[in-house]
Order: sequence, then C-alpha cells, then structure tokens
Amino acid sequence: MFVDEVTIVARSGDGGDGCVSFRREKYVPRGGPNGGDGGDGGNVLFRVDENLITLLDYRYRPLIAAVRGGHGKGKNMTGARGADAIICVPPGTMVRTEGGDVLVDLLAPGQEFLFLKGGKGGRGNAQFATPQLQAPQHAEEGRRGSEAQAFLELKLLADVGLVGFPNAGKSTLLSRISAAHPRIAEYPFTTLEPQLGIVRWNELDTFVMADLPGLIDGASHGKGLGTRFLRHIERTRSLLFMIECTSTDLKADFQTLRTELGEYNPELLNKPYAVALTKCDLLPLDAEPDENFEALCPARFRISAVSGFGLKEMVASLGSALDEMRHRESTS
Ligand code: GDP
Ligand code: MG
Repeated sequence: MFVDEVTIVARSGDGGDGCVSFRREKYVPRGGPNGGDGGDGGNVLFRVDENLITLLDYRYRPLIAAVRGGHGKGKNMTGARGADAIICVPPGTMVRTEGGDVLVDLLAPGQEFLFLKGGKGGRGNAQFATPQLQAPQHAEEGRRGSEAQAFLELKLLADVGLVGFPNAGKSTLLSRISAAHPRIAEYPFTTLEPQLGIVRWNELDTFVMADLPGLIDGASHGKGLGTRFLRHIERTRSLLFMIECTSTDLKADFQTLRTELGEYNPELLNKPYAVALTKCDLLPLDAEPDENFEALCPARFRISAVSGFGLKEMVASLGSALDEMRHRESTS
C-alpha cells in the first residue's frame, strides 16, 4: 500500500439560484421585486496541517465535495454561502493536475491553496429592477461548481534522517525516542521500508525522524534503490550518522558512510549532520573516550538505545539545532 501517493476527486459547490419574488403587503399595492441572490457555492482548498504525516486519510475518502450555495428567497434574503471543503495535507505535499503539471508544492504549516472555486450564486430579480423595468420576472441560475482530479504526492520532510550500516541500531533508536511509527510505504524492491517517528524534544516541540534503511543497507546488499524512496531523503533537513561503538575504526566507518551517501546524491553531503556512537552500554564503564570519535565532528553523541543513556541529551540537542535552522531559514 502506497500512502505517499493518492489521487482524489474534488468538487466545488454549485451556486444557489437567484429568486423571483415581489413584495406583498396589505395596503401596499404593487410592491417591488424582492427576490434575493443565491449564495456562492463552497470552494475546495488545500491546507497544510503540520500534525499530519501521511496522505492515508484520502486513500479511504477519495471524493471531496464542498457544499452548494443556498437559493435566494423572497424579502431580499440571500442564500447561505456553501461551506468550503478543506483538504488537509502534511507539509511536503505536491499537488499535480491530471495531466501531471505541478499546481503547487505545499510546504509551510497553515499554507493554503485554492483548488476549485465554488459556483457563483445567481442574482435575484431585485437586482434586475431598473426605472424602465420595475417588475423583472427573471432571476439568474447559480453557476455550477467544477470538478477535477488531483494527484497528491508526499515528499516527506523529515528533519533528521538516520544513516548507518545494518545493525547500527537505527530502528531501535527510532522506536525508543518516538511515539508514532506510521508505515509510510512498502517498497517492492526490498523488504526494507522507511519508518517515521515523531520525536518530542521539549514540552511543545517535535521533529520528524526517519529511518532510512535502504540507503546504506541496500547499497551494501547490491540492491537497487527506487526513486520513490530517494525522494524522501532529498528533502531531509539533516542527517544523523550512526556508528557502533564496538567498531574498530570509527573514522573509516564514518568515511565509508559518507562516501556511499555521496554516490547516491552528492548534495546529501551538504546537509548538516551529527554523529551518534551507538550501543554505548556495551563499553566498559571506565572506557577512555575515543580520540577518533572526538575528532569526527562537533555535534556528536554517545548513546544507548537499550539503556536509554544519552538519548535525552541528544534529542534536546538535535531539536534545538533544528529550531535554529528553521529560524535562520525564516529570517533569511
Ligand atoms: P538497524 O539495522 O540499524 O535498524 O539496527 P536495529 O535497531 O535493528 O538493531 C540491531 C541490533 O542491535 C538489534 O539486535 C538490537 O537489539 C541491537 N541494539 C540496538 N541498539 C542497541 C543498544 O543501544 N545497545 C545494545 N546492546 N544493543 C542494541
Ligand atoms: Mg532497521
């Protein structure tokens, strides 16, 4: 099941019809026209909801329709405006037309995009009165809403992508520090699938961590990587390299990881990164700090997903680094 790609059909609301009506009151002969306008039909719009991380909802609800406008009534009463249909999507959703053209790339939380405008309400006969025609007998019909297909594609915007050799402890880490682990897709070329987790790093804030298993595992097994998988990595903000503390040469392992990464896409090497030394519970308590590790990069952490050692500090540090990154992006 691919939940990072869905096709939906959306329909905006028809406009309500205008009304033909005349004032009728006792002792007021020949009251003028007072037919109200029809209400406009509801629009269909997309809205980015940062609490969503998949397009799963629309897999089971592929038809989205806005409400039609109410008809106008006598006494100059305008019909009610039809309610909009709002399609909430996770950040990173790209909307394409049936023909494949990109309509919009929805990235920022709260961002909206008007997809289909509702039909305009018809004018009531009160609007057609002129000095020459004081009793118009006609009103407009509401305009029809429109219907269109849209193809939604989620390019996951993970904040931290985990990169490491098989067994480095990526899956274990993700399961320890995140609450939700939705499966985003199955990738037929391998049994591996990327996993996502929402990590809470302080009372209010979270970030998305993605286990990117195919990246190195797939390479070392000689498996092909689909572009469907790679596109999730392209937009990952930062990387966390994971190296087992029992490695005999940390520096060489780190270099190998970076080389393999660069072979897929050299741009990945420009992303900010940190390094985690995993399974530190396996080291003797009095072990000397490894100089090679100290020299690897400024952002480095010693952790154990099993004992919990170092996890809190690492998560807080990754979270605040991301916060700074976002802040810089929004002010630049
Ligand atoms: P992945 O291939 O990188 O996803 O690695 P996994 O998370 O599947 O872990 C591989 C193996 O290492 C499993 O047997 C885990 O139980 C073990 N493991 C993971 N994290 C730790 C840790 O912090 N300490 C110890 N001792 N074992 C760990
Ligand atoms: Mg794994």
